Amino acid sequence: MTKLRFLITAGPTQEPIDPVRYLSNYSSGKMGYALAEAALQKGHHVTLISGPTSLVKPTKAHVIPVTTALEMHRAVMKHYRKADVIIKTAAVADYRPVKQAKQKIKKSKKGITLKLVRNPDILFELGTRKHKNQILVGFAAETRQIHRNALHKLKKKNCDWIVLNNVARKGIGFGSDYNKVFLLSQKGRMIPLPRMTKKNLASKIINVILT
Ligand code: C5P
Repeated sequence: MTKLRFLITAGPTQEPIDPVRYLSNYSSGKMGYALAEAALQKGHHVTLISGPTSLVKPTKAHVIPVTTALEMHRAVMKHYRKADVIIKTAAVADYRPVKQAKQKIKKSKKGITLKLVRNPDILFELGTRKHKNQILVGFAAETRQIHRNALHKLKKKNCDWIVLNNVARKGIGFGSDYNKVFLLSQKGRMIPLPRMTKKNLASKIINVILT
């Protein structure tokens, strides 16, 4: 078996507002960590770029901890060239506050407006730079028109595969140990997978994208 180099991103990013507050999302990092463990178990080499999570780091992976989307972007751009397979599980914040207040923002009687700017779309950038033998896999967490949105993402971000999950459903997706996904390929394949643990799913996803 050929030992491949996996680059996996996992977890949320945190975008600081002031020294005690940040913007983030509900991602637990479980799916990305399960993918890292599954790839290691199959004998591959794994670099895991992880946003803040409470999970135990896979000991055999090269783990790069990051906090913000900009840090994740920097780490991915530094490491993607050597990767054979890139799986972007991370729930990267699309926006960050324009600036981080140096001191804690004190409350006042009036409301405040937080000005946000776009973060780089890391997956999109990887899609434009991808080399011929690289397999690029994105995740799509959708709440409506899920297939339409995922197909659009697959094309726009030039992925080989998109793993689609419906995050509006209870008991799967964000934070859960279970997930139920569809795998959509650039070549037009659509593989529905039944609800299962993220651990089992991770192994299945890797088998599918490597065949
Ligand atoms: O566009 P959307 O955020 O729904 O796409 C999800 C996919 O894009 C995931 O694979 C995620 O890791 C990636 N993404 C990214 N950089 C962003 C936003 C999303 O790499 N700023």
